[in-house]
Amino acid sequence: MSEMDESVIAYKFLQNFILSEPLYKTVEFDAKWYSSFAGFSRMIDHDFCDYCSENSVFEWNCDPYIHDTLCKLAEYSKDSQNPIFRSITEPYRNQPFFIDYLFFCTGCKRIHYYTLMFKGNTVTKIGQYPSLASKEELEIQKYKSLKVIKKYYIELVRSINAYSQHMGIASFVYLRRIYEHMVEKEYAKLPDTIKKSNASFDEKMKAVDNKMHIIPPELDSQKSKIYSVLSKGIHEYEEDECYDLYPAMRTIIILMLENYLSDKESKQQLKEIEKTLKSK
Ligand SMILES: [Zn+2]
Repeated sequence: MSEMDESVIAYKFLQNFILSEPLYKTVEFDAKWYSSFAGFSRMIDHDFCDYCSENSVFEWNCDPYIHDTLCKLAEYSKDSQNPIFRSITEPYRNQPFFIDYLFFCTGCKRIHYYTLMFKGNTVTKIGQYPSLASKEELEIQKYKSLKVIKKYYIELVRSINAYSQHMGIASFVYLRRIYEHMVEKEYAKLPDTIKKSNASFDEKMKAVDNKMHIIPPELDSQKSKIYSVLSKGIHEYEEDECYDLYPAMRTIIILMLENYLSDKESKQQLKEIEKTLKSK
């Protein structure tokens, strides 16, 4: 791999880690990347700015302190056979170093703040403002009024909060409850001729899906897996396994809600059109 390619990979890794990973998750990387990290001068993020009340461009610019710290880390992480060099770098080898990455909103200069702890070949995010959870809460607010989630909206918020605090199993439990509720609610609406008194959850989900395609069609072949994975999160999976699977499971729930939302919006639009046509 060329140095250029390596640097692009390192850049994407660092940017994704800063902006998308939750707190207290420790990730390993190639310690060679410290010199690439030191060379980055600018990063851009597209994010919601609660002061501008809209999506905005946030910009980070490297400063001499960050550059120097990362250069030092690059030196400390090198394996050297030179005893003098080793005696200098050895005491720092696995020491934690803390770096604040400040992204400014280009519209209003408000700051989004991230603190990373670098230690050897690992990095952990130990601080973030605004929190990942509060940003995601803003994104899911549009689903709050949907009838299918209304009662369980607060659990979706709790699930996101649990994940942002690195609580994998807890975040899974909430998702399973939401998924169960959505399917049960739709199943209750089906005509009695279709319903069975002793139907399993899988049968209920399939009956609902046949009627209204509650699951995204691309996941058609995997639809029984959704509930079994969510259930294993409670009885079988370890904390970290739930944690790694969580983003995919949450996306399924969000896509289901997105479906309801677009349905609701097009019904509203059609109502308006009907009103306009009637008045002519
Ligand atoms: Zn702003």
